[in-house]
Amino acid sequence: MNKEIQPINVGDITIRPDQNVMMAGPCAIESEDQMNVIAHAVVKMGAEIIRGGAFKPRTNPDAFQGLGEEGLRYIFEAGRELGVPVVTEVMNEGQIELIKKAADGHPFIFQVGSRNAQNYDLLSILGKTGIPVLLKRGKGSNIQEMIGAAQYVMSGGSPVLMCERGIVSFNSGDPDKAAGRFTPDHLAVLRFQEEGFITIFDPSHAAGRKDHVVPLALSGVAIGANGLIVEVHHDASNALCDGKQAIDFSQFQQLMTRARAIEQIVKGDI
Ligand code: PEP
Ligand code: MN
Repeated sequence: MNKEIQPINVGDITIRPDQNVMMAGPCAIESEDQMNVIAHAVVKMGAEIIRGGAFKPRTNPDAFQGLGEEGLRYIFEAGRELGVPVVTEVMNEGQIELIKKAADGHPFIFQVGSRNAQNYDLLSILGKTGIPVLLKRGKGSNIQEMIGAAQYVMSGGSPVLMCERGIVSFNSGDPDKAAGRFTPDHLAVLRFQEEGFITIFDPSHAAGRKDHVVPLALSGVAIGANGLIVEVHHDASNALCDGKQAIDFSQFQQLMTRARAIEQIVKGDI
């Protein structure tokens, strides 16, 4: 028996089982101007939640690690100005208070990155905040492991949005040589939903390159995901993180138009 999916409230937005909510923004917050320009553009085009990382889990310690508290200030300023909730990554316990302080009552979602999908201490602590958690799939985590991870959060009371962002497979790797940076697992979306989770689809980290992002995102809408989280940049070639997979504003506009059309078909309205 499938479990009923409970809607999740974030400020004025309710993320519902029968809808596809759009979350968009840069991978990393790089400056006040960058965050503002991108946030304004995506919200104008229909994004309902803005994304951006102030704390970045980089594979290389010499890579840009994020602006930290300064970055949080920029994304929450943009969120407040535009009247939209924020989703931003938390990597450790100490960052929880920093994010809450920057939010200062503004609605937001904690993002737990793929690398922390098995950080049970962090998951348990986040569960006690009462704030929704976007739990990204561990790149090597199976369905049962993800359900277990989500239970660590939910046992404290916070709601979980599951996020399919692709897994490591024999087809994944360099997106110019392999089939994606990670392999998107569409059926996992259906399985997580059967288990009662609002499930978000992330085409950006699976694709790893911008020309594959829009088609892959649309496939996520088509399978019936409850939302997309997409990386967008106004100047991707100079982005400090994940520029290769960041779509530009015209691609995002195209995605919005087509995603809404596919959503109608999925809902059975046309
Ligand atoms: C991100 O959202 O920018 C990110 C680092 O994602 P993931 O944890 O899925 O790799
Ligand atoms: Mn990223």
